[in-house]
Amino acid sequence: MASSSTTSTSLGAGAINLASHAIGPRQVIRGPGALQAALPQLRSLTQRPVLVGRSSAVASHRQGLAQQLQLSAPQQVLLHHDCCDEDLLRLEGIIGQLQADGVIAIGGGKVLDAGKLLAHRCGLPSITIPTSAATCAGWTALANVYTTTGAFRYDVALDHCPDLLVFDHQLIATAPARTTASGIADAMAKWYEASSSSGHSQDGLVRQAVEQARLLRDQLLLEGEEALNHPGGAGWTRVVESCGLTAGLIGGLGGARCRTAAAHAVHNGLTQLAPCHHWLHGEKVAVGILVQLRLQEVVAGQALAAVARQQLLTIYPKLGLPTSLADLGLRELDHEQLKVVCSFACQESSDLHNLPFAVTPEQLEDALGFCAQASPAPQLLEHPG
Ligand SMILES: [Zn+2]
Repeated sequence: MASSSTTSTSLGAGAINLASHAIGPRQVIRGPGALQAALPQLRSLTQRPVLVGRSSAVASHRQGLAQQLQLSAPQQVLLHHDCCDEDLLRLEGIIGQLQADGVIAIGGGKVLDAGKLLAHRCGLPSITIPTSAATCAGWTALANVYTTTGAFRYDVALDHCPDLLVFDHQLIATAPARTTASGIADAMAKWYEASSSSGHSQDGLVRQAVEQARLLRDQLLLEGEEALNHPGGAGWTRVVESCGLTAGLIGGLGGARCRTAAAHAVHNGLTQLAPCHHWLHGEKVAVGILVQLRLQEVVAGQALAAVARQQLLTIYPKLGLPTSLADLGLRELDHEQLKVVCSFACQESSDLHNLPFAVTPEQLEDALGFCAQASPAPQLLEHPG
C-alpha cells in the first residue's frame, strides 16, 4: 500500500509508462529491543517532536518513549477517534503552536496513518512505531481517513514512506494474537487482489510484486497458525515481519494498480455499517477476500476461485478469523444494509474497479448475500473442480 502514479508518454514510435514509486521507509530498524536501539536515529531526525497515540492498552509504551525522549506533556497528543479529519485538524493546530519538527506515531494502523498524514501535511519527518502486526501501515506511503465513528471516507497517497520505521519485536509481542491474525488476512489479501488486478501486467516491477505476494500468501498459509500458537518463536517472528514489513514492500514495488481490489473495497463498504466498527481492519478484509473470490467465480467464471475460497474457509477458523458477514456481527443482514455496502463499494473511485471485469451493484449484492453465512461443504460439492 504505497503511493504511486503512472502516466503514459509518447516517445517516438513507442509509448513508455512513467511511474513514481514510494517503495519503502528511508530506514527500518527491526528486531527485539529495536525501539531502544533507534533512540539515536529518532533524536537525529527530530528534536521537538509530537508523539501521537491513542490506545490506553499501549499507554505504558508511549509514556516510556516520551520519558526517554524527555517530551513535555503538550508534546504527547492523543487521537480521540480513528484517523479522521476532526482529529487531524486539531493536531495540526497543536503541531503549529508547538513548532514541532517531527511526528512520531506509536500504535495501531489508524494511529500510524494519522501520524504519517500529519507529517505529510506539515512537511515534517515521519516516524512510525507499530505496536502490532495488524497492518503494514508503518511501512506505506498511504493513509486512510475515516469518520469520527469509523466509517471509511477516503485514502491519501503520500509523497514518500516514513523516514524511520521502528519494528520492535518485544513491542509487537505484547499485542493480542487477534491483531496478528488480522495482519495475516490483510497481508494475504495482497495476493488475491494483486493477482487479480495486475496478474497480466507487462510491467516487470509489478510482476515481481505479484510473485512476492504469492510467496507471502504461501508462507502465511504454512506458518500462520504456528505463529499464533507460539508467540515470540521463529515462525511468529517471520509472520509478524511479513505482515508488518513485506506486505508494505509489495505495495511499494507494485504501486497503485497492484495494491487493492474488491477485498478492500468490500472492507470500505462494511465500515459504513455500525456493527462492523469494532472489528479489526484485517478481519473485515478477510471476509472481503471471500466476497472477491465469489465475484471471480460467478461474474468472471473462474472455477479455481471457488477452490481458493474453500481453502480459506478451512484456514480462517484456525486463525480465529471471521468466515462470513454473520461472524462480523451482521446476523440480521437486511436489504438496506447490503445496499449501503454495495453502493459505497461500487462508487466510481472504488478499488473494486481494479478487478479485470466489471461488477454491478446487484452482482456484488449477490456475492455478499452468498457470504452472509459460512457453509463450506455445499460450496465444495457445487464446484468439485
Ligand atoms: Zn489493508
